Amino acid sequence: MKTLYVKFVVVTIGIMLFSGIISFLISNTYYQHKLKPQNDQKITNFAQSIASFAEEHPYIDLRDYLQNVSSLGYQMYLVDESGEESFFGAAFRDEDLSATAKEDVLSGNVYHGILHFPGETFVTGFFANELRNTIGIPITHNGNNYALFIRPDIKLLFNEMHLLFAWLLVFTIVLSTIMVVISTKYLVKPISKLTKATKSLSEGKFNVELDVASNDELGELSNSFLTMATKLEQMDDVRKEFISNISHDIQSPLSNIKGYINLLENESITSKDRAQYVSIINDEIKRLSTLTKQLLLLASLDRNEDILKRKTFNVSEQLKELVRNYQWLMSEKDIMLSYSLLDVEINGDASLLHTVWDNLLTNAIKYNKQNGSIEITMEKSEDSIVVTFADTGIGLNLKEKERIFDRFYRADTARTRTIEGTGLGLSIVWTIVHLHNGDVQVTSTEGKGSTFIVKLPIK
Ligand code: ADP
Repeated sequence: MKTLYVKFVVVTIGIMLFSGIISFLISNTYYQHKLKPQNDQKITNFAQSIASFAEEHPYIDLRDYLQNVSSLGYQMYLVDESGEESFFGAAFRDEDLSATAKEDVLSGNVYHGILHFPGETFVTGFFANELRNTIGIPITHNGNNYALFIRPDIKLLFNEMHLLFAWLLVFTIVLSTIMVVISTKYLVKPISKLTKATKSLSEGKFNVELDVASNDELGELSNSFLTMATKLEQMDDVRKEFISNISHDIQSPLSNIKGYINLLENESITSKDRAQYVSIINDEIKRLSTLTKQLLLLASLDRNEDILKRKTFNVSEQLKELVRNYQWLMSEKDIMLSYSLLDVEINGDASLLHTVWDNLLTNAIKYNKQNGSIEITMEKSEDSIVVTFADTGIGLNLKEKERIFDRFYRADTARTRTIEGTGLGLSIVWTIVHLHNGDVQVTSTEGKGSTFIVKLPIK
């Protein structure tokens, strides 16, 4: 995380430097093209007014006069035809000036050194304290010809401004660097938190804490992350519960079988007891076999979504056959069954839907009372059918109703404890119906009976 922070700071400062350089180049171009000619013109005008004053007042001492003017903030260089030179005001850093320039001015022309000062030296061209960077003007005084070279004394005129700007620059750089360092820390903080949370999640700790309250993308990311962590935790819980359920459901019939085999090894038991033990062992084996079959079915339903082997078949025929098969079980409990079915064909997996009706009917029998009744009805709308299994059995309370489609869930009451089951039947029903894009619901009153309603699309 440190690297992201460092990167952020470095990149921002880099951007600041880069834009500084670009702005400098732009302002330099502006000086070279716009300000330099203006500056040249301004100083030329000023020099001309000095020249005309000197010409109009032949009685003044030229050198005194120039000395005076220079003290107002100008640097000057005067040369006459005999080559005699004098300087006024602050000294020039570089006193190089071509002889032709001097002769040219002495012969009456104006020298535009400021305008023609080389452009490559950035804005500093304005500050270059060189004799070449001046305006040269011819002066005639008392019949003598002079050449006067003049430029503003930048140091004198702009010294305070210089300092002001330098401090402004220094403060801007220092302050913005500090701000960048602090604000980056603030910006990167939620990311550090997220990284920490991800790490703890990858170590299997699901109860991550994230107090990112911001409304921006990072806040949204944190919220999604928390939702994901909760979902993962739920899935992990389901997985753990699933494994412990399976282990238990396999272990208990196995230990029962082992126990009864031990009893059978005792040769002195009566043949009646022996028959009973064998029957119990058989039941346990049947239970194990049902369990593994159901688990295998659930696993294959989970694994792929296009497991359905679809064909068009008649549902009422299928239901009638099922009812015939369970007639014996119902007569054992004296249960009355009635049905009103429609002659409808639907497109679906006949074998899996058979499992659905089988589970619902056996439940309606298993959880029914002696002398109870079962009613199977069917309704058809334009694009779907609704099959209802209503029984007059023990029913379900609200809490049980919410969970009966969960894997391994069995309503554990005194009434159901003696009834054989794995708790997988209804979750298989739910999965198969949803694979067909249908839906299954239950309404129930405790002690009165339950109704399971299956809705399936026809196509
Ligand atoms: P089981 O193998 O226990 O029957 P199911 O998944 O088919 O498993 O059913 C889950 C639980 O739902 C049952 O244990 C039972 O408590 C309850 N249940 C299912 N069908 C009915 C019904 N028709 N009437 C009352 N309770 C039912």
